[in-house]
Amino acid sequence: MLLHMPFMSCGCLEKLKKVTFTTIQKDVRVMAKDVLCEVNNCTFWESGNRCNATQIYVVSHKGDTAKTSKETDCQTFERQ
Ligand code: SF4
Repeated sequence: MLLHMPFMSCGCLEKLKKVTFTTIQKDVRVMAKDVLCEVNNCTFWESGNRCNATQIYVVSHKGDTAKTSKETDCQTFERQ
């Protein structure tokens, strides 16, 4: 049985869906699934240059910003 919902005919439901979807999208954090790394003496390193850490923490040498990738480092590194 369909209930009469007056706001459905005015387009409000579509607007609500759009706002809700947009809000959900903002909350989604997409993480890198495949971190490739050449540091083969790290405990998290696997063949194929894959990183097996559940997460990595990358820092900049110069505070919160970096101009090039050379100014960044993986702090998750653990020597084998
Ligand atoms: S933790 Fe960092 S250094 Fe170690 S394998 Fe992963 S990306 Fe490379």
